[in-house]
Amino acid sequence: MLRFSDRCARCGLDYGSFNVGDGAAAFLILIVGAVVSLLAILVELRWEPPLVVHLILWLPLTLGLTVVLLRFAKGLLLALEFRNAAREGRIVKGD
Ligand SMILES: [Zn+2]
Repeated sequence: MLRFSDRCARCGLDYGSFNVGDGAAAFLILIVGAVVSLLAILVELRWEPPLVVHLILWLPLTLGLTVVLLRFAKGLLLALEFRNAAREGRIVKGD
């Protein structure tokens, strides 16, 4: 759905060596879910609108925030992986 290009257009950094996996989606599920849930609770407590109002408000907001923020979240995770030189865990056999 949302993929990195093969390499950086400016410096040629190979994006293929990074693997952010589903990390960005997992973070967004938690963050967007918390924000939307809080807003829905506040709206319900304050105005008590019919259920259809909640559907009209929160479904598009959730989808929109996720689609817009996924791009930034994946970029942020790739940048953090690069900056911290993060790699898969390895077992070192020392003696
Ligand atoms: Zn670059």
